[in-house]
Amino acid sequence: MKSTKSHLHRKSLNPDWQGKDLNAEKSVLQEENSVDSGAEVTGTVTGEEDHAMAAEVTGEDGTKTVAVAVPRIGDKTDVHLKVKPHPKFKEIYQVKLEDGSQRLATRNLTPGLRVYGERLFKFKNVEYRVWDAFRSKLAGAIIKGVQNVPIEPAFKVLYLGAASGTTPSHVSDIVSESGHVFCVEFAQRSIRDLVNNVAAYRTNISPMLEDARLPERYAMFISGKVDTIYCDVAQPEQAKLLVDNADVFLKPQGWIMLACKSQSIDVTMDPNAVYRQEANVLRSRGFDVKEIVDLEPYDKAHAMIVAQRK
Ligand code: SAM
Repeated sequence: MKSTKSHLHRKSLNPDWQGKDLNAEKSVLQEENSVDSGAEVTGTVTGEEDHAMAAEVTGEDGTKTVAVAVPRIGDKTDVHLKVKPHPKFKEIYQVKLEDGSQRLATRNLTPGLRVYGERLFKFKNVEYRVWDAFRSKLAGAIIKGVQNVPIEPAFKVLYLGAASGTTPSHVSDIVSESGHVFCVEFAQRSIRDLVNNVAAYRTNISPMLEDARLPERYAMFISGKVDTIYCDVAQPEQAKLLVDNADVFLKPQGWIMLACKSQSIDVTMDPNAVYRQEANVLRSRGFDVKEIVDLEPYDKAHAMIVAQRK
């Protein structure tokens, strides 16, 4: 079947659509509408012009593939933006947008590719990804003034509750090619998006379809110890689950970050009491709790707890 432009209808990579048929192999098309595979492309056009586009492609043998067209955004330098390194944290940047508002950003390890519809921009020949604090608790914690972010270039990070890769992709940017992010996620749909949309393009991400309550099941996939464990699983026993993983994977004096959702633990308790209770679980298992940062307004009834193994 011959492909023509008239067959090409596109959908932006919004969450409602992207999970529906991503089993198939993905191809990246560097030019808009440049599908030239002898396949028919179907779908519906939506989305902004400068967003990554995806479409379902039916091959001659009937197999379905998802094609992602990556427009050449970020080729122009955004002259009206100002970017400076974060004063405390390596490979995290502060950006002032055209309207004067402030955001965080990371250097894009995969230039031209977005993960969750975030804005890409170029400054002094480097492409950055705006890091949305309403979509990422780690970004929210940084804006709320967390003092310790134990995620740095060359670090090995175990990420529990990776979902479809929003925050893991920024962690991947920060640790860069010399570091690694081991991502554990037990929801099939989320891990499929993580694999197809993120890990396929980032060699420093290893996705694992596993239950974070059972670290022995993925121990063989993680060589050596990790510098930091980041945990965002929204489970009743978040702190216990995290420390169980730390006992297996964390270096001596290694760090943990727990994105604590009070409502997953007890909806009736005062959130601050829940955070203190979870912090005490960490202390009782040999951690020095450095800080507890409330994430409102970015995330209601959530806090980031940062601790280091004594
Ligand atoms: N950390 C992600 C981010 O910022 O991009 C969002 C994570 S979302 C709030 C919580 C995720 O934890 C969900 O995708 C859920 O499927 C996953 N999860 C919950 N319990 C889990 C478990 N026991 N093992 C692995 N993943 C789990």
